[in-house]
Order: sequence, then structure tokens, then C-alpha cells
Amino acid sequence: MKFNEIKYERPDLKSLINDLKILIASFQKASSPGEQINLMNGITELRSEVETYQTIVSIRHSVDTNDEFYSNENKFFDENTPDFSAIINEYYSAILASPFKKELSDEFGEHFLNLAKVKEQSFDPKNIELLKEENRLSSEYNVIIAQLEIIVNEKKYTIGNISPLLSDSDRLIRKEAAESLYKSLEEKQEELDRIFHHLVGVRHKMALKMGYENFVELGYKKLNRTDYNSTNVAEYRKAILDYVVPVVKKLKKRQEKRLGIGPLKYYDNGFKFTTGNPKPKGSPKDIVQNGAIMYKELSPETHDFFQFMLKYELMDLEAKEGKMAGGYATIISKYKYPFIFSNFNGTSHDVDVLTHEAGHTFQFFRSLNQPLPEYYYPTLEAAEIHSMSMEFFAYPWMNSFFKEDEQKYKFSHLSGSISFLPYGAAIDEFQHFIYENPNISIEERNNEWLAIEKKYDLSSDKEGNKYLLSGRVWQKQGHLYRAPFYYIDYTLAQVCAFQFWEKSEADFNSAWADYLHLCDLGGSLPFTKLVEAAKLKSPFVKNNLKGVIDKVDRFLEAIDDSKM
Ligand code: ZN
Repeated sequence: MKFNEIKYERPDLKSLINDLKILIASFQKASSPGEQINLMNGITELRSEVETYQTIVSIRHSVDTNDEFYSNENKFFDENTPDFSAIINEYYSAILASPFKKELSDEFGEHFLNLAKVKEQSFDPKNIELLKEENRLSSEYNVIIAQLEIIVNEKKYTIGNISPLLSDSDRLIRKEAAESLYKSLEEKQEELDRIFHHLVGVRHKMALKMGYENFVELGYKKLNRTDYNSTNVAEYRKAILDYVVPVVKKLKKRQEKRLGIGPLKYYDNGFKFTTGNPKPKGSPKDIVQNGAIMYKELSPETHDFFQFMLKYELMDLEAKEGKMAGGYATIISKYKYPFIFSNFNGTSHDVDVLTHEAGHTFQFFRSLNQPLPEYYYPTLEAAEIHSMSMEFFAYPWMNSFFKEDEQKYKFSHLSGSISFLPYGAAIDEFQHFIYENPNISIEERNNEWLAIEKKYDLSSDKEGNKYLLSGRVWQKQGHLYRAPFYYIDYTLAQVCAFQFWEKSEADFNSAWADYLHLCDLGGSLPFTKLVEAAKLKSPFVKNNLKGVIDKVDRFLEAIDDSKM
């Protein structure tokens, strides 16, 4: 069945929850490990029923936020999934109390029990009302951002399709686009402040109710992090500051030199080459067609995967009005379908979708037969390794997308990837500050952003832009609203992906075999163990990070970008 042919009907949550309760009760009374494993399968099936329809709603709602039906259904799930989560949490408690824990661990691996533990520690039925409030607030944010109206040259844009203009070769257009984007955010800034202030309050309250000092530890547990803590992450950020920020500074200087327009202004950041940024040639259709050829030539596994995505129409790629910003990959578990959502915009981003989001979905495709839904995908930092590494495995085919711009694309992709790390660390540091200081004012919070921005050398001349000067530009980073502490993940994964880049340049086939192995492991191991299994070095070790960054730096240094 094609995605659009899947009929949606609101699941009867009350009766499903009741059925789950019955199964969990039987699980608790089961007298053998075999019986428990059978019941676990039943529970997985019921869960998949709910999760499948929730995902379908969330996809259809994000494809068209103006569709009232799915907008309503989305609200329904926002309001009701916390009740569902409460039951799932009872399931995890039952697992942790099982007299057959040893046998369950032999069957599924010890990671499953560790996951059950953090899941149990990150949910408390006392917080259901607060969780609903949290859902409502972040949906409110989503809608505001999706419906921003950005006017450039009398034409209306959304945040999903404005970015080509932000890197337009005409400086006046860039400037107007950036000014208008920030003006549209400025018009909503109080609302965005209010929503965020509430979210922080709600999250802090939940943490206190569960006996945590603040939201930080709970936030980590909610991300299922079982193998590192905020101290490891703080050290890692310090290493980024020491080893990455200087490299990015050099890259900025080179950009300035290439452009020859003096110190960069805030609206110049996205513009990298006077001859224009590398653009994929051809229509969206051509890009998808080239993608199909690339995946066919890359490996039999990727060929099967991409044909599957095409056959069941599991990609919604082009930007349109009312569509939510950004891109994501998800799973419709009952059908064992991966799905890609994106906003094509005519820039190199479109090719990145076909590599990055396809990297995620390729891993889903490989892991959907894992025995437990907990293993369909790993924690988020590990999940980004699949996607970001696919961007590099696709390098040999970039000529078919970019033609004469191939070298320029690679230079820009690699330097963009490394330049992202300080920003990712800054967003993470900001979030730690926020949740460690939950009672500060909105103004103090925004001032802290300005300080962090400076520390990581992120900002260019703001030229008196009121919105930027007010320290609110983080408001457009949806992760802060939707998924606290999820962001450093991209940087951790990037450091791993750089290693796959380097390995694939040296020996493509052996690097690909390690990558495939990583995809097949799905979420059966925690991040640091997956890194090991893929024969990569941990980003948490300072010298590993330094080694990886040095190689990228040397490679970029050796490229003559003066004529690009
Ligand atoms: Zn991703």
C-alpha cells in the first residue's frame, strides 16, 4: 500500500490501553521466561497500533498544517499520548521487576534492560498533566514557526523555503531576506518568549516532582542516554572550543577573502562563493532520479531500499505553503515503512536530504526486523551517524548532482559540517544554562545567549538588527522547544561521520562494510558501544576529537578555494 492509501482511523485509545493493562498483568504473573517473551510480542503489537496512527497523523499534519482534520487529530494525540506513555512505563517497571531478567537479557541483550531502567526513571504518572501542557506548548511553537510570513520583494515566503534567498548572490536580496526573516520573528518574539518560559517552568516542575535537582539529568534520561552524562558533554564542548573554533575562524577568514566585501555581515553568512553557492542541476525529479542511480551503484542493499521508498511513495520532499519547516525521517512501524519529510528549496540542501534523511531511513529499513521496537533505532546521537556518514559515502556520485560544481560542493559541505560544531556546542551550553538556572528572567536568558554566541565566535556584524541584538535568535532553533538537550547529538555524530569520510577515502568497501554493520545493529547497543562496534573512535576522548579535526583541517587547507 502506498503511504497515501493508508486509511487513517483514530484508534480507540481507551480500549487499547485496557488491553495493554491486561497483557502487562499477565506478564507480571507469567511463570516462565518463554511466556513473558510471548506476552512482550503481544504488547509490541498493540503499541505499534497506536504509534503507527500517531505517526501517520504527525506526518500528514506536518505536510499540511492548514488541514483541520489532521490538525485536530494531532491535538488528540498531544492530549492523549501521555496516558499511553504511562501504560508503557508500567510495562518497563514490570520488566525491571521480572524474576526472569537474566533470561530476558540473554534473549534481547542487556541494553534493553538499561533502556527500561532509564525509561522508568524518566517518566512519572504524577506528571501527566504537565506532559500534556508541554506537548501543547511545543505544538503551539510549531504552528507559529510554520506560519511565519516572510516578505521579500513583495513575495511571501515561509521559514521552510526562505533559505535560498539567504544565500543569494545579490547582496541586497540576501539582506532583505534576512531582515524580513528576523522581522517576522521579532513580531512573534513575545509569544515565543512566553511559550519557552512556560516550557522551562513545566520541565523544571516535572523534574522536581520526580526528585531531581533540576531538569538536566531528567532531560538526559528522556533521551535514553545510558552511557554518558553532562560532565562528559561539558568536557567535549571544551574540546570543541579548543580545537574546532580556531579552524572555523580560519574558514570564516577564507570566506571573507573569497567574497572580498570586507567583514561579513549577518546576512552574508550563508553566501560562500562570489560565483554562487553550489546548486544541484535539474528539477526535483532529476535529483530523485539521480538518487536512484546513486543508490543502485552504491550497493545492492541501498538499491533495494531506495526502490522500496519509491514504490510505496514514502517521501514528501518539496516545500509548499502550510508545510512544516525542516526535514525528518520516521517509521510507520505496523507497515515497516520508513518515511522521509523535507522541504526541497533548490539549494545543495536538496541533495543532502537524499543522502542525510535517506541515511536515516536506510538504517530503519535495515533494523525494522529487530525483535524489539526499542531497537528499531538507536539514541539520537548514534542515529545521526547513519545520516551524516551517508552524506560522505555519497561523495563519489556528487558529480551527477552538481556537475562542474562538484569540488565546490565538497569544499562547502565539508567546511559547513565542521563550522556547524561550535554552533551545536553553543546551543547545548545554552540549554544546560537554562535548565540549571530555571528561575531567571527572559532577559537574563537572552543575555546569556549573547555571551555564549561570543564565546564560540558565532556572530558576524549584526548591523543594528534589533532582533539579533536582543539575543533571541535561538528561538528559530526548534529543538530548544521540542526536544531539550537534543542537539549536541548532531555534533557527536558529525565527529563520527568525519571518520567514515576519511575511511571511505582510504578504502571504500571496508568502510561501507563497517557502516552496514552499524545500520544492522539498530538500537541494540548504546552510543559509545555502537561507535566501538563500527570501529570508530569515541568523540568524548579529547585527543580523538583533535585527531579527526586535524585531518579535516589539513584537507580543507590543501584546497585552493580562491577561484571557487
Ligand atoms: Zn538527521
